[in-house]
Amino acid sequence: MRRCVACRESKPQSELLRFTFHDGQLLPDIDGKAEGRGYYLCRDNACAETAIKRKAFNRACRYDLDTDYVIRVIEEAFNNN
Ligand SMILES: [Zn+2]
Repeated sequence: MRRCVACRESKPQSELLRFTFHDGQLLPDIDGKAEGRGYYLCRDNACAETAIKRKAFNRACRYDLDTDYVIRVIEEAFNNN
């Protein structure tokens, strides 16, 4: 079980999108093999919006990520999963 950064609910990994954070970069983990620490988001538009509005990835990663950049990364994850 992994926890969504937006709603904080724990869910099986298959219901979540995985992202990795490494060297200041947040990336969608398309093939499940990306390097870095993993962060998770529900495959759900509401959670994506919450994550953007509340800067959930910034808090989870403890890093000042640009909001437009986070939006692009989340869109890419949704488009590839
Ligand atoms: Zn969620």
